[in-house]
Amino acid sequence: MSWKTSTCYECDANCAIQVELDEGGEPIRVQGPDCPRCYVQLDRRNHPDRILYPLKRVGPRGSGDFERVSWDEALDTIAMRLSGVKEAHGAPAVGFFAGYTKEARPQLQRLAHAFGSPNYLTESGCCFSATMVAEKVTFGYKIKTTSTVVSPKTRCHLIWSTNPRGSIPPFDTHPLVRHRPGKHLIVVDPRRTPLAEEADIHLAIRPGTDGALALGFHHLIFENGWQDQSFLDEWANGVEAFREYVRDFTPARVASICGIPEADLRAAVELFATTRPAQITLSPTATVQHSNGFQNHRAVILLSAVTGNLDREGGNRFLNDKVAPKPIELFDHCRTHLPPRVGDEVYPVWTRYWPAAQSMLLPDCILDGRPQRIRALLAMGINTAMWPNSKRMEQALGALDFFAVTDFFHNPATRMADLVLPAATSLERPALIAYPGCAYQGELRYRRPVVAPKGEARPDGAIFLELGVRLGMGDQFWNGDLESSWAEAAEGIPEEIRREVYENPDGVTVYAEAIEDLVEHGFMDADRLYRLRGFRTRTGKVEFDSIELREAGHDGLPIYREPAESPISTPEIARDFPLVLTSGARTKFDTHSQHNYIDRMRRAIPHPAAEIHPDDALQRGINDGDAVMVSSPRGAVRFVAKVTDRIKPGVVHCTHGRNDANINELTDDRHLDPISGFPPFKSLLCEVTRAEDAGDLEVRPRGTARRQGAEAA
Ligand code: SF4
Repeated sequence: MSWKTSTCYECDANCAIQVELDEGGEPIRVQGPDCPRCYVQLDRRNHPDRILYPLKRVGPRGSGDFERVSWDEALDTIAMRLSGVKEAHGAPAVGFFAGYTKEARPQLQRLAHAFGSPNYLTESGCCFSATMVAEKVTFGYKIKTTSTVVSPKTRCHLIWSTNPRGSIPPFDTHPLVRHRPGKHLIVVDPRRTPLAEEADIHLAIRPGTDGALALGFHHLIFENGWQDQSFLDEWANGVEAFREYVRDFTPARVASICGIPEADLRAAVELFATTRPAQITLSPTATVQHSNGFQNHRAVILLSAVTGNLDREGGNRFLNDKVAPKPIELFDHCRTHLPPRVGDEVYPVWTRYWPAAQSMLLPDCILDGRPQRIRALLAMGINTAMWPNSKRMEQALGALDFFAVTDFFHNPATRMADLVLPAATSLERPALIAYPGCAYQGELRYRRPVVAPKGEARPDGAIFLELGVRLGMGDQFWNGDLESSWAEAAEGIPEEIRREVYENPDGVTVYAEAIEDLVEHGFMDADRLYRLRGFRTRTGKVEFDSIELREAGHDGLPIYREPAESPISTPEIARDFPLVLTSGARTKFDTHSQHNYIDRMRRAIPHPAAEIHPDDALQRGINDGDAVMVSSPRGAVRFVAKVTDRIKPGVVHCTHGRNDANINELTDDRHLDPISGFPPFKSLLCEVTRAEDAGDLEVRPRGTARRQGAEAA
């Protein structure tokens, strides 16, 4: 028996783990943080349904009929088919998509750009990136809003639509979920999570109205003189126009839009604005997955600026660049030598800051040839459940001339592929890991494989390098050697640190050059970097009114717009679909669809749940545990009703990431956010009715319902 140190990759948190090996070198136990995902890594490695050999489709698309082929046949076929599309239609007609895992993104992106295609697309087309771009446009920096690190100096925490018990490890013991005497807590969430129950004030807003709520905060802050005027005088651009705009967001109006008590709004604003330092903690998705999400997010993060809590200890710090690996993606080549990326045409602000094409446009590209025609796709870890109106994405994948994919298990996307390649798990592949950490401190690790891949699985990165070789570019692809590609990336790390990164499996702490810069210039408190460098925006100040957005044809101010589909904006749709539909609350038992197949995880969350308030359920004759149809103008999907007063009346929340009940078959792909292209996953309309039968769902016999709301977190 022996133990090896490794790094978990069941989500992005990169926690250190220990893996026990038997005498034969086979992993038999994983020890790590208090996280169920961590402990099922061996369930994945040894799962009987895992794809272990290259597979070629032999039946119609979607049939699931595949037969085993050799790696040589699979890789030669991919190289030949991609080259064929390039010859006939040009390299940009081939798309390269990265979902999960993300570790082989550099190798896949390099392959795309060396091949000549600018169209490298990722799951960031609907996750995280919009928050980053909104923060760069507004402050010139990404700010730290997703709190893996909690400052003991924070005296007021405004937690906006995120549930740390399901999303931030170590889940139940994270400082955010532990009450600290003297710290106040405000929670904004349409669900009454356990954290919301502990809060001084819980604002249960109607999904999609975040922008209006934030503007209501600003209104009261200015009305009461709670703004940090000296900061604004020196560091704000367009604040007078903004102040004028928020005049209309009176407490009564905002309370009515958001569906919250006016008194609670007033109390929350006073607590947040007068208890400093205050920090806002946000999700990477909750504010931006709406039809007006980009501007909603701007309105929220500007609260940090207006109160002077920006880049201060205890407030929202800048996320500074740390010592990092050398980029091997060839993105500079893409920017300077390749044609426009998908998305440059319609979301130029987003593509200016985000080094990829906008994946939410893929169905349009494939089916309609707009804004560009994509005819072939090489994908890593793709699932149609990631796209709004997922059935259309499934149809699009079926319309490709050629489609190849790497994955661990089949899902609705892989079943449309011509070739499916078996991917190695994180225990079976090496990776150079750069974890961004907090304001000035990050971490670098080199993770060696703990065990050889099962069957004929290979690391995704090695597959992409080998394809580079077979496409005649061996010299640019380290002749297929994955470790060499990471070694070249590691050349960006100073030598003395690099050696330690390779030698120390526990990882190496690295720092931002900005901290030395501050200290050298006499700012000994490592606080408020903008005093030295200004804000890296067009005006050098915080952009309350953004010139960059105006020039791109958008509103410069963070204007509030109703969700494109809501009881107010589309009353004609609300007649048939009167409930507000939201989805995607995280749990520690899955990372999107990645744990769908693992029995131990399914036992923890056996049903895809539609959470509905008892009043709404009663009106519809629905009992807890009933099979229900959740329907929207896009279709209907069967869920299991979870009748709970933890959800706001008039709102339905559905589990996301399930292949047996995909909520995104009901979501809207027509009203993407006009700046980021993000879909409105979290604010739509629906109706819920009792289902005639349970279909494939396992439903508890009636009368055995658990205590209402017991698991809402
Ligand atoms: S939070 Fe859990 S799943 Fe994510 S890296 Fe850490 S141990 Fe793994």
